[in-house]
Amino acid sequence: MKTVTLPGGETVPVLGQGTWKMAERRDRRAAEVAALRTGIDLGMTLIDTAEMYADGAAETLVGEAVAGIRDQVFIVSKAYPQNASRDRLRRACEASLKRLATDRIDLYLLHWRGSVPLAETVEAMEGLKASGHIRHWGVSNLDTDDMAELVTAGGTGCVADQILYNLTRRGPESDLLPWLTERGIAAMAYSPVEQSQLVRDERLAGIAARHGFTPAQVALAWVLRRDHMIAIPKAGKVEHARENRAAADLVFGNDDLATLDVAFPQPRRRRALEML
Ligand code: NAP
Repeated sequence: MKTVTLPGGETVPVLGQGTWKMAERRDRRAAEVAALRTGIDLGMTLIDTAEMYADGAAETLVGEAVAGIRDQVFIVSKAYPQNASRDRLRRACEASLKRLATDRIDLYLLHWRGSVPLAETVEAMEGLKASGHIRHWGVSNLDTDDMAELVTAGGTGCVADQILYNLTRRGPESDLLPWLTERGIAAMAYSPVEQSQLVRDERLAGIAARHGFTPAQVALAWVLRRDHMIAIPKAGKVEHARENRAAADLVFGNDDLATLDVAFPQPRRRRALEML
C-alpha cells in the first residue's frame, strides 16, 4: 500500500476506512466490524470516525474492531465545533477515548468551523498533544481562506484537512489542494465514491471494464492519483472493503485520465468548498 507522509515524518496508508452511518443498526453491526477488520488486515489501517457518528456509537464500534490490534491502527476522530473551545475539547476528547477504548487518538480533527475562534482551538489541540491524549491534530471542511487564517492563528501544527473530494466534487483542485500540497499538509478525501452514487455511474463503466475493475474502484483510484492524498471510503460489507483495497493498485493511463476529465470536468470558476 502506498503511503502519505505527514508533517513530522510519520507515514499513513493512502487508503483508509470511514465509519459514518455505522453502528446505527444492530443487525448490521457484526458485518461492519468484520468489514473494518478485513480492511485493517489488508492494510487499510487508518480508520476515520467522529463523536458525531451514531452519537458516539461509531467510536465504540471502532474500539471493538481494533481490540487486540490497536497498535497496528491509526485512529482519526473528530470533535464538534461547539466542543472546540479550551474547556470543552479536553472533555470531548476524553469521552471519545473512553468510547474508543484507547489511551490516544492518532489524529484529532475539528469537524467543521464553528464560532469558537481558531486560535483557541489551536491552543486546545496543542494542549491535548502535550498531554498525550492525541498524537497529531488537524481540521475538516476548511477552505483555503480558513486554512490561511488557521496558520496565522498559530496553527502551523495542523497535519491534515479532511474534505469532500471526488470525481463530481473537483472544486478543491483550483486552490485548496495546491495550497495544502505546498505546505505538506495531507488532504483526506471523504465521500470518495459520493456516498455510493459513483458505484452506479455509467460514465465509469467503460474504463472500469477495460481494466477489469469496478466503477467504485475507478472512482477511488482517481482520487488516489494525486500525491499527498488519503481516501477514506466507508464499507459496511467485507466484499466492499476487499474491493476498495484493490483499487489502490489500479494505475491509469493518460488516456483514461483524459476521458475522466471530459466526463467529470473541473469547474471553470473557483468554487467554495462543499461539505456534506
Ligand atoms: P462514501 O465512502 O463515498 O460511500 C459510502 C457508501 O458507498 C456506502 O453506502 C457503501 O456501502 C458504499 N460503498 C463503498 N465501497 C463500495 C464498493 N466497493 N462497492 C459498492 N458500494 C460501495 O461516503 P461517506 O461514508 O460519506 O464518506 C466516507 C467517510 O468519510 C465517512 O464514512 C466518514 O468517515 C467520512 N466523512 C467525513 C465528513 C466530514 O465532514 N469530515 C463527511 C462525510 C464523510 P456499504 O456500507 O454497504 O458497504
